[in-house]
Amino acid sequence: MTSSPSSPTPLAHAGVPAARREVRPPLVLCFVGAGPRTLGVLERLGANAGELLGDRALHVHVVDPHLPGAGRIWREDQHPLLLMNSRATDVTVLPDASSALRGAPRSGPTLHAWLDAHRDELAERFAAAGEDRLAAEVRGVTPQTFVSRALGSAYLRWAWDLALAGLPAGTVVEVHADTALDLLDGPGGRQLVTLAGRAEPLVADAVLLAQGHPDVEPGPRETALQEFAAAHGLTHVVPGYTSDLHAAGALDALHPREDVLVLGMGLAFVDLVVLLTEGRGGRYERDAAGTLHYRPSGAEPVLHAGSRRGVPYRSKISYELGSRPPLPRFLTPAAGTELAARLGRPLDLRADVWPLIAKELAGAHYHELFLRHGERTSVPVEEFDREFAAAAWGTAEFDELVARAVPDPADRLDLAGLDRPLEGWGTSSAEGVDQRVREHVEADTTRRGDARHSADAAVFLALLSAYGVVASLQRNGILTARSAALDVDGWWHGFFSYVASGPPPARLEQLTALSRAGVLHFLGAGTVVAGDAATGRWVATSASSPGHLSTRAFVDARLPHPSIRDTADPLLHRLHARGDAVEQEFADATEVLTSGRLVVDADQHLVDATGAAHPRRLAVGPWVAGGGWAPAFARPGVDAGFFRLNEAVARDLLSTAAEPLVSAGARPGARTAPSAGGARGR
Ligand SMILES: Cc1cc2nc3c(=O)[nH]c(=O)nc-3n(C[C@H](O)[C@H](O)[C@H](O)COP(=O)(O)OP(=O)(O)OC[C@H]3O[C@@H](n4cnc5c(N)ncnc54)[C@H](O)[C@@H]3O)c2cc1C
Repeated sequence: MTSSPSSPTPLAHAGVPAARREVRPPLVLCFVGAGPRTLGVLERLGANAGELLGDRALHVHVVDPHLPGAGRIWREDQHPLLLMNSRATDVTVLPDASSALRGAPRSGPTLHAWLDAHRDELAERFAAAGEDRLAAEVRGVTPQTFVSRALGSAYLRWAWDLALAGLPAGTVVEVHADTALDLLDGPGGRQLVTLAGRAEPLVADAVLLAQGHPDVEPGPRETALQEFAAAHGLTHVVPGYTSDLHAAGALDALHPREDVLVLGMGLAFVDLVVLLTEGRGGRYERDAAGTLHYRPSGAEPVLHAGSRRGVPYRSKISYELGSRPPLPRFLTPAAGTELAARLGRPLDLRADVWPLIAKELAGAHYHELFLRHGERTSVPVEEFDREFAAAAWGTAEFDELVARAVPDPADRLDLAGLDRPLEGWGTSSAEGVDQRVREHVEADTTRRGDARHSADAAVFLALLSAYGVVASLQRNGILTARSAALDVDGWWHGFFSYVASGPPPARLEQLTALSRAGVLHFLGAGTVVAGDAATGRWVATSASSPGHLSTRAFVDARLPHPSIRDTADPLLHRLHARGDAVEQEFADATEVLTSGRLVVDADQHLVDATGAAHPRRLAVGPWVAGGGWAPAFARPGVDAGFFRLNEAVARDLLSTAAEPLVSAGARPGARTAPSAGGARGR
């Protein structure tokens, strides 16, 4: 399926009757990006083509320098130690019986079901390729395993072929292992897609941009840090996708045994630590008492990690919740709209909406506690529920009710402590910080694997619910410009990820083993890193201890923020420069701010600087505003929105077949973009 740049690989070309081709040319679609999203749209294209395409032939171009299905994030050649962040049983890219869809009902296996069914064949394939670690991994996979991204890649590559097999007979699919550079209107409204390695542009009736996470040019902060590094002969690793930084050799500048400052303790940090420790030859051993130990290879740098919280993300919860709490209950779209109407102004996410979020989380927590652990409560559930519903979060009345009804403080929801476990804590020594963070991580991992604390799992579900409601408040213009543009992607997404999207417990156990081995140190909360001109070194300070650390090397361990304006992607850069694509802006009476995301209309059509939606250009993915933010993988059995979005996009692309072609410039059916907020989801 691979092909050299601009040498297309036809994947299917059954005969189309010549007479029909003369009458109606095939519908030509072009997909820029061949990751899981394009895979999902192609699957729905096949399921809906019979209804919308009739007997017209279909020709599909797919452009991506990486292998289709897996794309850049899930490519198989990345380090086998890098893991997916969901259990194998919770991941699917194919619809199942729960999916309420308009096209032909089709279903496919979850990641785990597929690995289970292909276990021997995959193990043999990996062994033959010398990938012994992957061969061993696939043999041991259980539904609960957090598998390597390389195994996830194998699943996506297989699902890609399945999606292609579901396209109408006679469909031609050309995969171009290339980068799209530009997109222009051509004669008859056709879309011209210029590729880096091909003289002639691809000509399509409609184009889908499914480009995932584009790179970003360094901003003022990164530029200043890079200049400081260059002036003093220091190393600064800029924000990026850790796997790509590794592949590009950027991590080679971090030398064995040298002190390295790491700012950020989220998932980019976890990948970094893995690659610089076990990835450099260290190994883990468990002793007779069950304690995990790290045996260094000597090739590791000594990592010193800090962040605002000073602790890694909370562990993934490793048990199932018996039943779902009533959600949404306190934070509903209607509650947000009513509050804004009552206040007569847009809502500030932290000041106005957070009390509703907190009450939603607390409501789910206490619902689960009373339901399953009633022996740890001291008032009748009906009485508690009545008083709880009436009390506002954060009031003395609320706190008094909880103190009276829930005797053990460990059973009460302490959101401040959950969010900032090191807040107000300090010690005089670096060793003291290491010990405190290790104890925190061990306690957190233990608790989140213990179903006696199943109220934590209810909070997780409430967070998912609240995340969706906040997104709808953002889309519907209920939030202030500042909250919509900055808070949603900033502290709220950060809090959500920290509580609900942390690493598997085994990874956290490894972090504590690395800390005991002296390979990883913790700097504490409120960590700040700056270039010190006097010494020509990086210097880190934190609120948790009075000392400071000075190093030659510094890693910004985080993913870049979305920015269409500053994107390094040549296609998006050109579209934005010409005004053919714009960044999402939020405006209120006081200011206009941007979220950095690509504006589309309610149907995912690209919106230009005049506010017109292009009828033949669609965009979807993590950088796209509105409904396109939906995550790329679906949970099975929950009628996931992933498939409905894919279907809506597929049906829209197919509907191009019904449109008459017109001359360039006059765009049939050009839609007017929504105003404030730019994008609306479905
Ligand atoms: C490091 C990392 C880890 C992640 N881990 C998880 C996880 O464990 N679980 C999970 O559910 N989600 C995870 N995600 C989220 C991720 O967004 C999705 O899993 C998924 O990859 C998104 O699918 P996509 O097709 O929209 O984008 P991508 O998978 O990013 O695919 C987009 C494709 O577009 C191509 N492309 C971009 N621009 C051009 C161009 N100009 N020309 C040609 N091709 C182009 C890229 O090469 C890429 O292959 C992770 C994301 C990152 C960054």
